[in-house]
Amino acid sequence: MLLTVQNIHKTYQTADGPFEVLRGIDLTLGAGETLALTGESGSGKSTLLHLIGGLDTPDQGHIRLDGQDIATLDDTGRAALRRGTVGVVFQQFNLIPSLRVADNIAFQARLAGRHDPNWDAILADRMSLTLHLNKYPEQLSGGQQQRVAIARTLAAKPRLVLADEPTGNLDEATADIVLDMMLELVSETGAGLLLVTHSSALAGRMSRRLHLRSGQVA
Ligand code: ADP
Ligand code: MG
Repeated sequence: MLLTVQNIHKTYQTADGPFEVLRGIDLTLGAGETLALTGESGSGKSTLLHLIGGLDTPDQGHIRLDGQDIATLDDTGRAALRRGTVGVVFQQFNLIPSLRVADNIAFQARLAGRHDPNWDAILADRMSLTLHLNKYPEQLSGGQQQRVAIARTLAAKPRLVLADEPTGNLDEATADIVLDMMLELVSETGAGLLLVTHSSALAGRMSRRLHLRSGQVA
């Protein structure tokens, strides 16, 4: 199994005392599978994604990638995980303003030592970015920037793509197109996709769907 999440608990300390956001989450995701994660705002979707991406650590439970518990990784291993195995698309695009679109797309793949100019060209074509490769992010629309962020993640050919409301800033038609492209590219590379969305329409296009409620899978 590509991803196994077992009995994950996470509590945040707040001014009002401890707040348990996740109360025993289990899920699995195989290579080539797509999974929608839905739930009301504040239900812990981003928290779970951060834990799976190794950006934060759970209080209890296990997250395994290819059977390896990510808690057992040292800093180097965790960095490698973030650069290579797992690709994250955040709601904020986090593009590098001083780099042209082409270099933004290549950035993570270069870090991971897996830069493939042919694959970049295919991605740019599919994302309709070919005419914009020499521009800087600020010269692009929000939808174009989001497509650059997605292309950058996919350029490194991650085995697992985690996407946190990647179409949240886009209108419905553009969101549909962006999801089409993500699904196509994920199926081409055989990666697993975990997509956080509040849209039932988008969730319905994934092979499985999990709903978070009161810190548990409903
Ligand atoms: P979602 O992505 O489903 O909207 P989040 O995972 O962002 O939910 O947040 C879940 C809950 O945890 C929210 O009530 C949020 O305010 C709280 N929360 C998130 N991050 C922190 C943090 N670093 N410290 C304290 N509370 C947090
Ligand atoms: Mg969120």
